[in-house]
Amino acid sequence: MSEPTNTPENSAGQDHEDGWQPCAPGEISGMVGRIQDRRRAIVVGRTTFAAALVLCVAAASQFSGFSAAEHDCGGIVCSDVMAHLEAYRTGTLDEKTTGQVRLHLEECPQCGPKFRKMTGGSAQLDAGSFGDTVVMAGFAR
Ligand SMILES: [Zn+2]
Repeated sequence: MSEPTNTPENSAGQDHEDGWQPCAPGEISGMVGRIQDRRRAIVVGRTTFAAALVLCVAAASQFSGFSAAEHDCGGIVCSDVMAHLEAYRTGTLDEKTTGQVRLHLEECPQCGPKFRKMTGGSAQLDAGSFGDTVVMAGFAR
């Protein structure tokens, strides 16, 4: 793609000696439109870049959260929650730990969504041993 410019070659092509024939009527607006498009593209590109950067930082902090700093919510950390999760789901966990795990899953930005995804999003946090307080519809005994 060659850029539309006002080089002598262009006007020479139209060959009017007695005056300039700078641009065809549609040409300027077309050029402006192109410039605006390019500006828009630049803005969009910047926004996308910024968003990508934010995503990268978020992902990085997530990863470092896994390996180094664990979320301590409900008096229990992520790795412990993960270790107890199966027992928690099946309701075989002891009462104290169940409470901690439940609290953690409610507060932890990392484990909460993961657990909800694991359980399909419908069977929620209490689908276990807390049957006396909250019983999900499908789990009533
Ligand atoms: Zn967690």
